[in-house]
Amino acid sequence: MHSPEISNLIQLIGKLPGLGQRSGRRIALHMLNNKEIILKNVLDALTQAYENIKACTVCGNLDTTIPCTICASLKRDQKILCIVESVADLWAIERSKTYAGYYHVLGGLLSAIDGVGPDRLHLHNLHQRIEQGVDEVILSLSATVDGQTTLHFVANHLKNFPNIKITTLSHGVPVGGELDYLDDGTLTVAFSGRRTIAA
Ligand SMILES: [Zn+2]
Repeated sequence: MHSPEISNLIQLIGKLPGLGQRSGRRIALHMLNNKEIILKNVLDALTQAYENIKACTVCGNLDTTIPCTICASLKRDQKILCIVESVADLWAIERSKTYAGYYHVLGGLLSAIDGVGPDRLHLHNLHQRIEQGVDEVILSLSATVDGQTTLHFVANHLKNFPNIKITTLSHGVPVGGELDYLDDGTLTVAFSGRRTIAA
């Protein structure tokens, strides 16, 4: 029914997170009906993103510069490092304006079911970063099984640093909840009431 070009576009859009084939058809048609205003701008934005946005080799954040804007900032608290699963979580915390330290993005969670082991997480430079004067590591991970498994793994991974405080977010994070879905108020409460899990 469609030309291969249109079918391909629908397929690609429909496979994006949160969408499906029905959304794929609607979005593809909307873009094709507004070629100059929407399709062209989306194309330019995608090209820009493809060419310029990279993962920060220090923290794993996405930005146009390496180190990223957050890592390069001198205004943040160098003594605190917040470990998160994904850039989505980093964005959620930044939106809440409740935290002003640095980040470390793991790029995933350990998962027995999905076969994700420690080698798949961004951990290689974590020790080195902590040695640069970090006092507190906040393990800001989801309250899911995988989030908690990862939390204990990373806490154990850091046991060579007896002088740093390892904290985790307080209650307020719903079980099975993911940080990106929390409202800013809940995230602020979870951050301010964080508790020490090892000292
Ligand atoms: Zn960075």
